[in-house]
Amino acid sequence: MTTIYSARWVVPVSAAPIENGAVAVEGQRIAGVGPHAEIVAKFPDHKLESFGDAIILPGLVNLHTHLELTAMRSYLENEETDFFAWLRKLTVARLELMTPDDIRVSATWGACEAVRAGITCVGDASDAGMMGMMALRDVGLRGVVYQESFGPDARLAQENFEKVKTKVDQLRTVETELVRVGVSPHAPYTVCGPQLELIAEFASTEKLPLMMHAAESAAEEIFVREGCGAFAEGLARRSIEWKAPGVSTIQYLKQAGVLDVKPLLAHCIRVDDRDIETLRDTDSKVAHCPKSNAKLGHGRAPFARFLEAGIAVGFGSDSVASNNTCDILEEARFATLMARAGGGFVPGADALRVATFGRGLNDGALADLAVVSLTGVHQLPSYDPIATLIFASSGRDVIMTVVAGREVYRDGRVSNVDEDRLRARVLEINHRLRG
Ligand SMILES: [Zn+2]
Repeated sequence: MTTIYSARWVVPVSAAPIENGAVAVEGQRIAGVGPHAEIVAKFPDHKLESFGDAIILPGLVNLHTHLELTAMRSYLENEETDFFAWLRKLTVARLELMTPDDIRVSATWGACEAVRAGITCVGDASDAGMMGMMALRDVGLRGVVYQESFGPDARLAQENFEKVKTKVDQLRTVETELVRVGVSPHAPYTVCGPQLELIAEFASTEKLPLMMHAAESAAEEIFVREGCGAFAEGLARRSIEWKAPGVSTIQYLKQAGVLDVKPLLAHCIRVDDRDIETLRDTDSKVAHCPKSNAKLGHGRAPFARFLEAGIAVGFGSDSVASNNTCDILEEARFATLMARAGGGFVPGADALRVATFGRGLNDGALADLAVVSLTGVHQLPSYDPIATLIFASSGRDVIMTVVAGREVYRDGRVSNVDEDRLRARVLEINHRLRG
């Protein structure tokens, strides 16, 4: 049996928009994309789902988030001017105030927010990887859960490496076709050089995807280049030795072997021409997180230049503790406007390609779709569906999300979990964190 989804517009991204278009889905895959009449004739035995004034597009991809921190939305507003204090309050809350079940609820709530916004695939960095994997599985999202590793002290590098290796081995037992495991050395200021090298080597031999935060803050830059600033002082207070490599973060990661595994690097704000060349030459991927970067005052990544250089770039919301929403259409609009404000012209069509991380609606492709309503006062009139998506729509206009041929969100309801129960639990966590 074929399901045909039809709407006023189909925007395949990999081809020009189709007015009065349709997408045929069989099992987990797309079986046909084209004008409504053509698709209906091609698959006579079908169930038709007509959305009328709406746009069908490939599912949106959120390359960098921390779903487990969803319960901390607006929790850290007073610490935003001090990144060090921000990280500390977040870490204390996660490790001391939240139970494992709280973390799972928080991640599941975040996964609900994602599918409600038309996101079908996430790159989720998690300290509690098992809870992240369960959240994605419960909601029916596709994604990679990157188990985080911390450890700035070189004397403990081997021990900390063994810990993350054990966690990754455990996570592999719950992998599914949709939910895969990766590894994430958290950041250059929280993971020492020898530990970075061990993790990069492990990722290489085990063919594990690797994600890490890179070139994000001024504090990180001065820490890596000169060995001073808040992060260096923090380590000194704990009697942890740090010898700055004296180069940019990107060159440091290259030296440590991290770029040998074609990593996904989140932020990449503080990069120069040489770094951009290095990212391109090593096939590193960039998760561009413009709203988080702006909200925390870290600066503006050279998005237009990434595109010019041909770097594989996608959008990341980062955690909602620094955003405060998980909404890739919003991220795309903000990125495009910020790039233009900075003098680089990014066309709406390019932004949409980044928002789907290059995925298109093609015969045989995975049936990951989003349907955006086209009835909002804020969207009409619409002369150009791509402009309407990027400049006038947000995740709140999404009416259906399909992952691997299965509807995970439709008509205001997330299909696979009890959102009322989750809402009550999230409010409970909220009360506890408020103290
Ligand atoms: Zn992050």
